[in-house]
Amino acid sequence: MTAAHTAASNVNINLEALFGPHVSSGTLIASASDANFSSVVGPRWSSWQPPQYFGAIKPANEADLQAIIKIAKAHNVSFHATTSGHGTNMQYGKIKNALNINLGNFKSVSIDTANNRLTIGGATSFGDVFGPLWAAGKEVQTGNSVCVGMVGATIGGGIGSMQGLHGLMVDALESVRMVTASGEVVTASETENPDLFWAVRGAGANFGIITSATYRVFDQTANGSAILAEFVYPAAANRSVWELLQSYDNNLPRPLALFPEVGYNRTTNEPMVLYVAIYFGTLEEAQPHFDKARALGPVSTTIVNTTAPGVYTMLSQGVCDNGNYQNEYTVGLQHTDVATMEDVFADMVAFYEANPEYNGKVIYQRYSNEVALQTPVAKTAYPWRDIKTYLLFENIYTNPALDDAVTSFSEKIRDKIQATSGYPNRRVYLNYDHGDEGPAAWWGADHLRKLRALKAKWDPDNLFGKGAPMN
Ligand SMILES: Cc1cc2nc3c(=O)[nH]c(=O)nc-3n(C[C@H](O)[C@H](O)[C@H](O)COP(=O)(O)OP(=O)(O)OC[C@H]3O[C@@H](n4cnc5c(N)ncnc54)[C@H](O)[C@@H]3O)c2cc1C
Repeated sequence: MTAAHTAASNVNINLEALFGPHVSSGTLIASASDANFSSVVGPRWSSWQPPQYFGAIKPANEADLQAIIKIAKAHNVSFHATTSGHGTNMQYGKIKNALNINLGNFKSVSIDTANNRLTIGGATSFGDVFGPLWAAGKEVQTGNSVCVGMVGATIGGGIGSMQGLHGLMVDALESVRMVTASGEVVTASETENPDLFWAVRGAGANFGIITSATYRVFDQTANGSAILAEFVYPAAANRSVWELLQSYDNNLPRPLALFPEVGYNRTTNEPMVLYVAIYFGTLEEAQPHFDKARALGPVSTTIVNTTAPGVYTMLSQGVCDNGNYQNEYTVGLQHTDVATMEDVFADMVAFYEANPEYNGKVIYQRYSNEVALQTPVAKTAYPWRDIKTYLLFENIYTNPALDDAVTSFSEKIRDKIQATSGYPNRRVYLNYDHGDEGPAAWWGADHLRKLRALKAKWDPDNLFGKGAPMN
């Protein structure tokens, strides 16, 4: 094997001969043609535009991972590391003939209750931490779905229902241990390699592989009590739901998270608006907000008095199933434009009716950014702290023949929502991106300049970050 190996010749590499002698016996190695390949390669959530791997390697420990990076670099083997495979954008589909590094063995949870610290392995999912945190009487801001990688989400910013209480996930991050492009292990924190730590908090996948991460955690809010309410409305109510969302534009309470959603019931053949509200606190505290939703005349109402982990379990139902043909579009909104949302609802209804196999959704995710804004924008690579509503436009269908129609429809919807978003240029939450927006939309021009300089320092050969290229 020589350093002159090009990506195009990877398929002929004998992976066992190249890596086997340098890694521990617990490391699994498979070529794509091997019978055990599916048990070595990392799982993937969506079957839309998947990466193509010629082989996979699942390191048993950090030293193995270091050896893998060094050998891959020396032999010009292109690689992509994954945990639970929830990254879904068109950039992943451009990964061809690469080696998958499956981080599945980096799962661990350790809580230092006295010092309010949580340390997790780089592949630990949200669902892995909820039980232990609950048992310790603690909580931390996370995303909403149990299946998603906690580190994977954090390094793009990290938004979710507890954002109003505690800020973005990057705001809870205290330090990471990571294998960099040189194959060395470094710690990044406010005091050690602070430039790298800045980059990790918003663009982490471009700078190395994180083997463990430490977060600051909090005592449970309201002893862990949380309420989930779900209201279903007929099409005629859609304007009033958007008006309700708008009424919170300048005063969303910190414990409240809102998810109004456009959907279509394929059983009754009717469009609908789903309005999910989560409140971290007591039912009594949440009730005035639920009363506002009830006053709009839902056809069905469900209110569940539960715990924070209970809320996440409910939010994950169906959403966490692997293998759907699914992709996303997103833009950040500075305010709620009722007329645009009404217009989008009508467009969606027309598209559902013209395409009976299409089951996409438009979800407006609304979290208080009061705490997130207490951290200056310059403090982390994540740039879009003042976004009020994150549009998550999920395309769900099974027939690739619909691809072109879905793409042109989605681009139209995205442009329409962007036009009245309150921002002159697209602000894109990296973790929800479609992949065609470009680095300035993901990080903003100022942060991008700084990120590119740091990239030249920490990853000059561009080994990492295939899901969100900076150049
Ligand atoms: C069902 C679903 C629900 C979601 N909910 C939320 C949510 O509530 N809030 C939110 O903010 N986001 C959410 N997301 C988006 C999610 O944060 C991103 O897709 C994220 O990139 C997923 O990380 P992963 O590790 O699970 O996926 P992967 O595909 O395994 O990884 C995604 C990217 O992160 C990199 N990466 C992962 N782990 C590491 C590591 N240890 N070190 C270095 N790089 C790493 C990978 O190389 C890859 O580029 C959701 C996505 C899905 C599909």
